[in-house]
Amino acid sequence: MSILKIARMGHPILRRRARPVDLLELTTAPIQKLIDDMIATMKEYQGIGLAGPQVHEDLRLFVAGVENGDDPMPLTVIVNPALTLQGDTSVDDWEGCLSIPDVRGRVPRAPEIDVRGFDRQGKPLQFTARGMAARVIQHETDHLDGILFLDRMKTFESLAFIEEYSRFLAE
Ligand code: ZN
Repeated sequence: MSILKIARMGHPILRRRARPVDLLELTTAPIQKLIDDMIATMKEYQGIGLAGPQVHEDLRLFVAGVENGDDPMPLTVIVNPALTLQGDTSVDDWEGCLSIPDVRGRVPRAPEIDVRGFDRQGKPLQFTARGMAARVIQHETDHLDGILFLDRMKTFESLAFIEEYSRFLAE
């Protein structure tokens, strides 16, 4: 497995709409290796999600998962996701991004979503996600549409560097 280079804010690939993954291509060795490398890269940099464009791949897929914390999420690979947001309200909470290092901000997201897509073998997926998982999946799916979490913030008042976030803002 390899640790991949992460595209940082300003790289044009982060602002493009990624192309759908051809399900026949999905099970080939290069894409399966890419998925393994994305999981290794996410863990190496202690992220909880990583989308194709963040590793310079023009593909609609992402990996996500968090092992510890109060709201763990199992390791998930989603290909060609389609989300339906549930409810009319949004919930603000902290987000960061491996493509925007060392920064945190509060982002409104739907608290519950219906997720459809495919797993890494091309098997159809459908489930409801809530809480942290719903937030991460919305953040990662945004990456596939060229959207960064800063675009979703209502104001920048909460924007903080991680060190100051840890000192003053972390709950
Ligand atoms: Zn991100």
